[in-house]
Amino acid sequence: MMINRSQRYARKAVKVDHAQNMIMQHVLQLKCEYTSIDSCLHRRISEPLYAKECMPHFRRSGLDGYAVLSAEALFATPQNPTCLTVIDEVPAGYTSNKQVVPGTAIRIMTGSAVPDGADAVIMFEQTEEYQEEGQISVRIKHKVNPGQNIAKVGDEITSGQLLMGAGTRIGPGQIALLASMGYEEVPVFHRPIVGVLTTGSELIAVGELLQPGRIRNSNAYMLAAQIEQYGGLAVMFGTAPDDGDEVVRMINDAMEKCDMLIVSGGVSVGDYDVMADFFTTIGGNDTTLLFNKIAMRPGSPTSAAVINNKLVFGLSGNPGACFVGFELLVRQALLAMQGIEKSTYHHLQAIMTDDYDKGCPHDRYIRGRMTYFNDQVKVSVLEKNNSSMLISIQEANCIIMIPAGSKVIAAGQQVEVIPLPYEITMY
Ligand code: AMP
Ligand code: MG
Repeated sequence: MMINRSQRYARKAVKVDHAQNMIMQHVLQLKCEYTSIDSCLHRRISEPLYAKECMPHFRRSGLDGYAVLSAEALFATPQNPTCLTVIDEVPAGYTSNKQVVPGTAIRIMTGSAVPDGADAVIMFEQTEEYQEEGQISVRIKHKVNPGQNIAKVGDEITSGQLLMGAGTRIGPGQIALLASMGYEEVPVFHRPIVGVLTTGSELIAVGELLQPGRIRNSNAYMLAAQIEQYGGLAVMFGTAPDDGDEVVRMINDAMEKCDMLIVSGGVSVGDYDVMADFFTTIGGNDTTLLFNKIAMRPGSPTSAAVINNKLVFGLSGNPGACFVGFELLVRQALLAMQGIEKSTYHHLQAIMTDDYDKGCPHDRYIRGRMTYFNDQVKVSVLEKNNSSMLISIQEANCIIMIPAGSKVIAAGQQVEVIPLPYEITMY
């Protein structure tokens, strides 16, 4: 499947946003499934969920005290208390079948149902219990307002209210809500199965000893981690040597087993860049080339195609470019497959802490570190930012966008950054 070399140079570069838009038009719609509430953390809700009941669904006491008629104790003071007969006691989880009528009170615990008749609860600390002729009574020593310490039915959530929209990522807060609303089984999107295939005859396994000219395969693990971070299920399809036929065979095999495929390496113009040939010759028979060059640095030969309705990405083998290529192009598709329609990047404005003078005729994406400082977002360009380098990826919590044509960006100037889903140091 060798193509002539000039074809590799003759590629037409598309703009980054155009590449992103093309990708979004080919996002595969995934089916939904039900998963147990025990195992739904980080999954994405597949349909809007509505409250089936009110919360609370009964008039709930906010504290331990006495359920009373407020009108009887409107003017109560320690010197002039209201005295009431205690006619019942309601532990949490129980209800009283008695009614609070004038002259009576019911002892009640936090979270229990306020008995009929009562319209307020007064805390124990503002009362004093006493016995008289075998009868338990209570002195109400403080004024009581109507509704005091009672959570009304639906105070927090009303029946039918929207709880969470489709695409919501399930965290501890969502789990608490789902549990309280009786969602033992939770409707979620299938996790997209994303294949990872690395190419390069120089690659050796992580456990192997280095040999001259050989390097360990880090992209496979980095990509799998990125996939998992955005909710996908990464499936490793191994490493292909720089052999066109073998790569095609492995791609075809992988495509049958995944919803989307990421191939690293081999997209450039080198003699053994087999993925460049793969993308250049694509077309027809349920295959469409979306682009095989992007006007950006790093990762200009980044490519994408659609094969049998599934997206295939060809990312640069250079670890820095591979990382950025995923964040710029793959992430949005992966999120959209899980119902996040507007997965456009939430760009932030940040102030550069240092000068940056590496001009570029194309948009440049560099790894940066943001910090909050005096209510301002500051961003520094990380050292060792070359596309071939990976050491700075671990420090990166954003990607700084340097627009095409910029010459020097001076310290103090504002730039746009794409936040990465990692912790941001606050100081
Ligand atoms: P390529 O995109 O195949 O031209 O590779 C560009 C550079 O990235 C070369 O130095 C490769 O050795 C390196 N590289 C390719 N694949 C990987 C990988 N899976 N892990 C780490 N480095 C890689
Ligand atoms: Mg290669």
